Parts: sequence; structure tokens; C-alpha cells
Amino acid sequence: MSYCELCGRQTTEKKKVVVDGTVFNVCIACSKHGKPYVPAQVAAKKKKPIAVKQQKRIGMEDATMLTPDFARLIREARMKMRLTHEQLGMKMNEKAQLLRKFETGALRPDEMFAIKLERFLGIKLYVSAESSDDE
Ligand SMILES: [Zn+2]
Repeated sequence: MSYCELCGRQTTEKKKVVVDGTVFNVCIACSKHGKPYVPAQVAAKKKKPIAVKQQKRIGMEDATMLTPDFARLIREARMKMRLTHEQLGMKMNEKAQLLRKFETGALRPDEMFAIKLERFLGIKLYVSAESSDDE
């Protein structure tokens, strides 16, 4: 049997409370007078974990889509830069064959490739899905 440190009564169920910055083991009745005691460890755990920043998908929001015009855009941009498929492929460290396929529309560049193309050619391949009036 233990005693409440505040009122001195015997109590079977004790609670830890903080009164004036001191922790007391008290009975249920007295526990109402103090603040619930939270051990440091628990308090630390309760702290919001530092939100791990979700890795942003590179340059692409859900509301964007590959422009249906990508083949023409890639071709025109490459021609403007006076680069052959091979030269552009070398610059981008990609296969010229792939570039050809994109320019004929035979193949759609995947997200990574499209972003690379945007960067190298200074074009915009991803357009907002809403503002596209091509579809
Ligand atoms: Zn008490």
C-alpha cells in the first residue's frame, strides 16, 4: 500500500502529476490538481517527427501530361540547334535511335527522358492537362 504524496491518504492507484514543477505520486483525487506528468522520454517521442520531405517527382505534377505535339517539338528544337540525332544523342548521352523514334512519334519519351529533352532543347514537353486543347 502506498500513500498519496499530497494528501497522505492511502491509495491503490497512484498517478504522477506535476505541481509547481515538482513531480508527485498522488491519488486520483489529487491528480486533478496537477498537470499530468509526462516523462521526458515520452515527451520527446510525442514531438512531431521532422517531416521527411517527400521526394518531389521531378518537374511533373499530376495535372501535366506529355504534349501530343512532342514529336514536332523535339524535331523543330533539334533542327534549330542544328544538331543531328547523333549529335543530340551524344550531348544527352542517349541513343540517337531513340530520338528518331520520338521525332516520328513512334515512341513516347518517358518522364525522365522528356525532362532531359526539355532541358537540352529548351522546350516544354509537359503541358497542363487542363489547358491542352489538342485532345
Ligand atoms: Zn491525494
